[in-house]
Amino acid sequence: MRALNIAVLPGDGIGPEVTKEAIKVLQALADIDSTFTYETKEFHWNSDYYLKTGQMMPEDGLEQLKTFDSILFGAIGDNRVPDQISVWDLIMPIRKNFQQYVNFRPIKLLKGLEGPLKNNASIDFVIIRENGEGEYSNVGGMMFQGENREMSVQNTIMTRQGVTQIAEFAYKYVRDHSLDKVTNATKSNAIIHSMKFWDQVVEETAKKHSDISYERYYIDALAAYFVQRPEDFQVVLASNLFGDILSDLGSAIVGGLGLAPSGNINPSHEYPSMFEAVHGSAPDIAGRGIANPIAQIWSAALLLEHIGRKDLHDNILAAIEALLVERKILTPDLGGTATTVEVGDAIVEKLYK
Ligand code: NAD
Ligand code: MN
Repeated sequence: MRALNIAVLPGDGIGPEVTKEAIKVLQALADIDSTFTYETKEFHWNSDYYLKTGQMMPEDGLEQLKTFDSILFGAIGDNRVPDQISVWDLIMPIRKNFQQYVNFRPIKLLKGLEGPLKNNASIDFVIIRENGEGEYSNVGGMMFQGENREMSVQNTIMTRQGVTQIAEFAYKYVRDHSLDKVTNATKSNAIIHSMKFWDQVVEETAKKHSDISYERYYIDALAAYFVQRPEDFQVVLASNLFGDILSDLGSAIVGGLGLAPSGNINPSHEYPSMFEAVHGSAPDIAGRGIANPIAQIWSAALLLEHIGRKDLHDNILAAIEALLVERKILTPDLGGTATTVEVGDAIVEKLYK
């Protein structure tokens, strides 16, 4: 079988530190399992690159990335470069050009962890967030600047194609994982044009899959239910803005940013998908070797699941859980004293051979 071809963008701060551990785990899997082979190429398109060249990536950056099967992304962000530049000139072009219209976030309380909630033993759901349109558009503008009637308008874009494809992805995920319910996050009682259309298209899709339960909650109530009864959810389908907010709430109820993975997925496999820890470059702890690498290692596991190796994904996740249950080798964010490298090594040790 052809080697899996991964573009690695380590980025800034703790990005390179945690990404190195994720690749260590991939290498260990390749050593264990002869049916898995991979190659990586590193691209150092980060804030240093920007300060040297004035760009976050070269002119033909997307052309270069296009030839890879998948992208493993660390984190970007540096106080010498405005955040808007690192996000809009690097992450956004990749997401948009490679039609990574699914932002995939597992919210799972791993074995061995105690979340901040009571009665939280069985939190295990995914948030499927629309990643390409919706509230995060650059359509809009200012009027009457400097006058008393100064105003700003920000348009939300919901397209039939965009909403249909994210809803279909949610239903396919339910089927592929033998689940039985989709929860739609909405606010069509107050946002009466765009969210109403979102609901209409989601519900047309739901009707096509009437053997799967469907429920709809207003976003404000749903946020409370995430805290009060998170065990009730399986697949939460959300627009770009609602999914963004719910995802951070979700990661908070299962142990925090050091444990939160994500995928930016192009379901057709026409272009590469990109996998990244949810956290940023964490300048406050960068360079000290104490960042928790689990979020990035789990993100690499999602990459493997996406390319059809659920077996390897499951192996990594079991190894992470075994480590957490033991409670011996943990980084400071989880109350331990271990280093990033020690946690990576320990996860490699726990892989099923
Ligand atoms: P952050 O996620 O970098 O850090 C928030 C807090 O969580 C910090 O206290 C940090 O030490 C801690 N933390 C994060 N990851 C951790 C890990 N793996 N192990 C242990 N502790 C961890 O968010 P921030 O401080 O708001 O942003 C810092 C920079 O990162 C900014 O420039 C921001 O724009 C950028 N950022 C980038 C991405 C991305 O690359 N996709 C995402 C979020 C933020
Ligand atoms: Mn966010």
